[in-house]
Amino acid sequence: MKNTLRHKPHNKITVIFTGLFLVVFLCLWPEKLLSAQEEPVQTTEDAPVSEEGIQELPKDKLVIVLDPGHGGMADDGRPEGGVYDGFIEKELNLIVAQAMKEELEKYEDVTVYLTRTGDQRLSLEERVNYAKSVDADFLFCLHFNLSKDHNTLFGAECWVSAFGRYYSEGYAFANIEMEALEKLGLYSRGIKTRLNDKGTDYYGIIRLSVEQDLPCVLIEHCHMDHENDRPFCEGREQWEAFGRLDATSVAKYFHLKSDVLGVDYSDYQTLDVPIPEGVMRPDTTEPDICMIEVTDQEMETGKITVTLSATDYDSGMLYYDYSYDGGETFFPRLAWGDKTQDTITFTIQVPPHIIPQIVVRGYNGYDLFTESNLVSLPSMDYKTEEEIAAELAEQERAEAAAKAVEEAEAAEAERKREAAKKHTVEVRRDPEPEEKEDPSVSYFLTVSLVCALSVIGMAVSMAMITKSRKRRRRRRRRR
Ligand SMILES: [Zn+2]
Repeated sequence: MKNTLRHKPHNKITVIFTGLFLVVFLCLWPEKLLSAQEEPVQTTEDAPVSEEGIQELPKDKLVIVLDPGHGGMADDGRPEGGVYDGFIEKELNLIVAQAMKEELEKYEDVTVYLTRTGDQRLSLEERVNYAKSVDADFLFCLHFNLSKDHNTLFGAECWVSAFGRYYSEGYAFANIEMEALEKLGLYSRGIKTRLNDKGTDYYGIIRLSVEQDLPCVLIEHCHMDHENDRPFCEGREQWEAFGRLDATSVAKYFHLKSDVLGVDYSDYQTLDVPIPEGVMRPDTTEPDICMIEVTDQEMETGKITVTLSATDYDSGMLYYDYSYDGGETFFPRLAWGDKTQDTITFTIQVPPHIIPQIVVRGYNGYDLFTESNLVSLPSMDYKTEEEIAAELAEQERAEAAAKAVEEAEAAEAERKREAAKKHTVEVRRDPEPEEKEDPSVSYFLTVSLVCALSVIGMAVSMAMITKSRKRRRRRRRRR
């Protein structure tokens, strides 16, 4: 054929055959190219069955849809989704989704779509319908959380459907995802289901996906408004890292491999979650047990050691918080820590001069709490660091004041000394008039002098009278 074509180009039959060949080739070629994306995904019924009888996912057909939560403006003119301290959730979600898509596309045999690539407002139906339109195998909804009162809840969580294979598939993926988020340093709030009043999935995106036979997981990466989580979501680099982490979890779950990344998750062990027969109901009851015991009270420092025993048979323990004013005010929630333990011990710093009344609340995986017994303790009259510092400052202030008085007195004494010196000199030159005597003193002196003179006068007169009488008597005797 080649030779005929080259050496006999004007042969009519050859030209017709060549033309026909080209037409057929050109018609078929673009279709082959497009089919990779547009051909409908094989349903599980058509999927090949492995030796163990488990249906294998048609890897070359895997379609993942990522749904960056929210977008656009709400009816009240504010951005859809959470907004806190300059962080706009819908923007974070999109950045995570874009990074997740980019990373996931490094794996083989996977096609990734985003429900939105800009800031458009989409209904939940539109999101799910779009995922169905591209024959998605799984829908991943990407979010960041806020707590109602802010700075209350912290940690990451995954929400899954409460029903059938949507539960088991969702849970198996979420298990990988939560493990990765915990490894990053975030606290796990768990993998949970939630139901509405009608007894169907609470979260619309999950409910609508399940209605359309599409597994769906909602990832709440962390709480943007809590100081514990903030270090994990402060900038673009970290949001993109979340996206890559999510992509890796998807790759592990679907046993993907990537030559570009040099990873192969073909043999990755995913958690075997049996398909539940009934509804996987959320926990709606408070922890079953919550009791405290004060095991130590340091009177000199105000440190109180509390042992807390709490149990929740349904969803386990998640947080605790404490009060030392009998439950009037509680300190921020703290992580339960090792969730396999029913008993934890912690220390409370109690201020002096109050009667501590210790109460603790234990929270389960669904943020429901049980309040403990109350323990009253004797008041501690130790000095706080502030008090010690204040006392020291007061002492320093008093010392400074005393020194200032001393200096002022010394200066005054010096001034007087100088003045006295000057006075002596002046006295020599021009004596100052003598100090005037008190008039009462001079009057007394005058009266005394007059009296004294009168007495003396009288005494002299008496003496003279007595003398003249004697003289007269002597003369009479001579006569
Ligand atoms: Zn959200």
